[in-house]
Amino acid sequence: MAAKTLCRELEGLLGLDRVLPGDTAAYLCDATEGRGLRGRADAIALPETTEQVAAVLRWCDANDVPVVPRGGGTGFTAGAVPIDGGVVLSLERLDRVRSFDPLLWRACFEAGVRTASVRRLARESGLFFPPDPGAAEQSHIGGNVATNAGGPHAFKYGVTGAWVTGIEAVVMPGEVVSVGGSVRKDVAGYDLRALMIGSEGTLGVITAVWLRLLPAPEAFLPVASFYDGAHAGCAAIERVLGNGIPAAALEFLDAAALAAAGPSFPGELPPGAGFLVIAEADGSAAEASRLRDDLVEVLAQDSLGVVSPEDPAEVGALWRWRDGVSIAVTAQLGGKVSEDIVVPLDRLGEAVAETIAIGERHGLPACSWGHAGDGNLHSTFMVDPLDEETIQRAEEAAGELFALAVRLGGSVSGEHGIGWVKRGRLALQWTPAALELHERIKQAFDPKNLLNAGKKA
Ligand SMILES: Cc1cc2nc3c(=O)[nH]c(=O)nc-3n(C[C@H](O)[C@H](O)[C@H](O)COP(=O)(O)OP(=O)(O)OC[C@H]3O[C@@H](n4cnc5c(N)ncnc54)[C@H](O)[C@@H]3O)c2cc1C
Repeated sequence: MAAKTLCRELEGLLGLDRVLPGDTAAYLCDATEGRGLRGRADAIALPETTEQVAAVLRWCDANDVPVVPRGGGTGFTAGAVPIDGGVVLSLERLDRVRSFDPLLWRACFEAGVRTASVRRLARESGLFFPPDPGAAEQSHIGGNVATNAGGPHAFKYGVTGAWVTGIEAVVMPGEVVSVGGSVRKDVAGYDLRALMIGSEGTLGVITAVWLRLLPAPEAFLPVASFYDGAHAGCAAIERVLGNGIPAAALEFLDAAALAAAGPSFPGELPPGAGFLVIAEADGSAAEASRLRDDLVEVLAQDSLGVVSPEDPAEVGALWRWRDGVSIAVTAQLGGKVSEDIVVPLDRLGEAVAETIAIGERHGLPACSWGHAGDGNLHSTFMVDPLDEETIQRAEEAAGELFALAVRLGGSVSGEHGIGWVKRGRLALQWTPAALELHERIKQAFDPKNLLNAGKKA
């Protein structure tokens, strides 16, 4: 169907101001733009209600038009990028808080509410929504659920899915389904809620989520500790666990990531710093202070220097700096091919060293940083986004990263998902029988393969 006709038909369904032309640039890329990815769409739909989402899906089903659900567009796998035309269905206008019961520690949000708004609303009532993926001002809660996003505090509190008690979604051919809700336990039926979590827009369009919340810890006390290299740094990370310290977050930066982001570090970098560990203690003021002291003691061994800010403004500055690491690395050459492999914690040092070695073999500057406690690295090759030959080399190097993760007993994705850029990589770590089940689940939800076709496959 011609793009103009398609737009006109969608306008008939949704109204004139809820459809944009397919070449509206802001809807054709995500955070993979720095590795040269940009898509092509026939129309952008901006529904405002679940019923309108259902109407779009019904129309797409009837006309065999592919649909790409889109949240905040911060994904690192091109999951929201329309690779080959069709309708981009943006959830940005489903942005209402449906219910908020602070005294019962729960809330229900439409999919387009921004992650930072969820966290802010909880905090204003003395509550805490722990998942903290780094692009929170732009990402949507629906996108976080669709990718099962992690973040620094996943180490203690788990990833987004751990906080979802219910999901409302529209599935093909345009039916609204609700699984779970505000109940905290529900073992009736197969766990369709869990299937939707992390399904990356391939099984249905999430329109609302019920979340459980926690009373906010009274204090958050981070500790930043520098080492001369990965060997000492990884040993320090293992000491935190070995000493039974329940850190809320346990992050790392290797030497090259530190070189990129270090100039804006809110404090002094000791000379010779080649590895940084950031841990955080939380809890009541007394508990956080005791845990912070334990962290300082354990992390100080073989360290070049330890910083442990207490002032909330300094604590905020440290985490804002940590959130900016990805951007600082991108700024080195303008782009990056960055993956999110995960390995068992005792293989982290090998994965950090191998990331650099793979980069060297391909003539690429490389670095890694990430969620050390979860063994989750952002292994990265820095590239000029306009240099296609270098991007090609970096994509080949990324292939070696996936093989490395599997060889070390890990996974090709710890938090960003498979999307488009990792298509085919599941086969590296799953048996044919598991892959077939995966395909049959997709087939059961979306027999015509119209929902985010080619992604998470
Ligand atoms: C600076 C930066 C830091 C980041 N830090 C982290 C981090 O610490 N941890 C982490 O896990 N990720 C991180 N990310 C990646 C990204 O923010 C997460 O993957 C996030 O969950 C994506 O949400 P989004 O709303 O932007 O989704 P999008 O990018 O729009 O979409 C992501 C995928 O979800 C699907 N989708 C989106 N909304 C819906 C919906 N309502 N229904 C069905 N499918 C949907 C899309 O089709 C796509 O496949 C970071 C990204 C950036 C740019």
